Amino acid sequence: MALKMRKVYTSIKDITPSTKDWKIKMIVAEKSPKRTGQRSPVKYQSLTLIDPEGNRLQATIFDKDIDSRQDTLHIFQSYYISNAFVKPLDPKYRIETHEYQWILNAKTIIEEVPKDEGQLEPPKYQFIPFNELDAYKNSTAEIDILAVAIQIRPCREITLAHGPTIIKEIYVIDQSLNPICLTMWGRFVQDECKKISKIIETKPVILGTKIRVGSYNGLSLSSRPKSKFMINPVIPEATSLQEWAAINDLLLKSIIAKSLTYPSASLSSVGIREIIKNCDVIEFIKSLQPMAKTKFWIKAKIIVVDLRQIFFYMSCIGCNKGTGYDYNDTFLCYHCKHQSVAQPRCRAYVELDDGTGRLSAVMFGEVVEEAFGCSAVELINHTGDEHLSYIENLVAQVSQNEWKIELLVDLDRLNQKQYKNFNVVSIEAVQDDTK
Ligand SMILES: [Zn+2]
Repeated sequence: MALKMRKVYTSIKDITPSTKDWKIKMIVAEKSPKRTGQRSPVKYQSLTLIDPEGNRLQATIFDKDIDSRQDTLHIFQSYYISNAFVKPLDPKYRIETHEYQWILNAKTIIEEVPKDEGQLEPPKYQFIPFNELDAYKNSTAEIDILAVAIQIRPCREITLAHGPTIIKEIYVIDQSLNPICLTMWGRFVQDECKKISKIIETKPVILGTKIRVGSYNGLSLSSRPKSKFMINPVIPEATSLQEWAAINDLLLKSIIAKSLTYPSASLSSVGIREIIKNCDVIEFIKSLQPMAKTKFWIKAKIIVVDLRQIFFYMSCIGCNKGTGYDYNDTFLCYHCKHQSVAQPRCRAYVELDDGTGRLSAVMFGEVVEEAFGCSAVELINHTGDEHLSYIENLVAQVSQNEWKIELLVDLDRLNQKQYKNFNVVSIEAVQDDTK
């Protein structure tokens, strides 16, 4: 049998359907999960290969060849490839500029690059850190991201102009510590999301390319038809992100608990700070599990109705519990069992108005100081009818501002007694977007 000498090429541009006996070193830059065709049961897997000159090529493996090739063509590994089926690629399916695609079939020869020979350079990515995403908001730019997936939501059906479609939302975070919703569309819902879902507890690193930046709930990310995703890619940037996530595990857990705990099943979800309308709060509480404790956010103005209420109470500086001792008295606190000092602590009974309804709430300590812009001592000094105009002024000012307000629901307490007031856990000034 005559030994066929293959000519080694360095550019895919020199390899056309009529080129014979070719061989070329290629690196696997991207590899999709096994997918099922939209209109046929055919299974396929798409790859992006890069030649030694940096030209990118689309390649596809079909059906049983996918499984038989699964031990080779690893991401960021180089291979000598020959005898692929070179075939023109319809421009509408072109992701890369090259006019041909390769079908890697049973006849294709894929050989590892010898150990003593260099591998090709992996592709370079231009990752945009989340604190720089704003510059791309609502533009047509398609960017690369690298982030830790911290939560994945159930599938959601939404209605578009051409009909309903299923999306999936993944919350991703990077070192800027601001979780952002990445909406996955189309085939990514079935394939990539299933994989991510299985390992979400391990906080996998997701690399996404050609991602759009939107303004849904502040900032958001969306997959595009030409996007590619890699889960836990073996690149130095991903390794250091993974290390960062491991070191900051507690911090990430608290961010998940603080921003992402609201169950999205009953109400339409609107991003990380899922702001609930006051008129939907009853419905929301009904949707909770018995005994549940949860937090939710509303966006409302703080209204003080009772101007004669006492805006502070004497408290133990150790545990904040109320006490009958006077200002600066030292005493043994029977709540926390510590020697303590009595200090005034702010407390305000308020109504939270978002235009759809009002909720009664109580707020304490620093939350009151932030909302009112004054300290407990100032409030003590303005107690009594002679200071009513000071209080009137103060509450008029307070009611001017809009806040994102985090409220606590404790169903256990709610069922025990007349639970008139929600507890305000934290507040954040709403930024004026008109600036
Ligand atoms: Zn105490």
